[in-house]
Amino acid sequence: MKVWLKFSTKIINETIIADTIRKFDFDFNIMKADISPKGGKMLVEIKGPEENMAIQYLKETCVDVSIAKDVVIKDDSKCIDCGACVSLCPSNAISVMNDKTVVLDNNKCLFCTFCITVCPTKCIHPIL
Ligand code: SF4
Ligand code: SF4
Repeated sequence: MKVWLKFSTKIINETIIADTIRKFDFDFNIMKADISPKGGKMLVEIKGPEENMAIQYLKETCVDVSIAKDVVIKDDSKCIDCGACVSLCPSNAISVMNDKTVVLDNNKCLFCTFCITVCPTKCIHPIL
């Protein structure tokens, strides 16, 4: 699952992520990170047999954890179904349906932001 981890200044220098990875059996993929001495946040993918235990541990160590159901959103009212984003998407999260409309599946999204950059109508936005 994809989750946002938010860190306050109090815990920014602690080795919470490394400790969590050592303690539990799960894969940890950082998709986006914005960390500074003032705190920060990360969008990560956590997947594996002990993912729920890892998330619980992160919550107990004062990391603000929230499930990231969607990471990008496509405004269908502005999409012109040009297909420019489809071939750039590295995870096949964007595809063309039989009726030629373009759809986006957030479950497959890696948050690379290629589609956001290329879209001529700027109809794809990150959810931050
Ligand atoms: S952000 Fe990247 S992975 Fe996600 S839909 Fe856009 S191109 Fe695909
Ligand atoms: S690039 Fe933008 S306008 Fe074109 S299909 Fe993708 S989301 Fe729609």
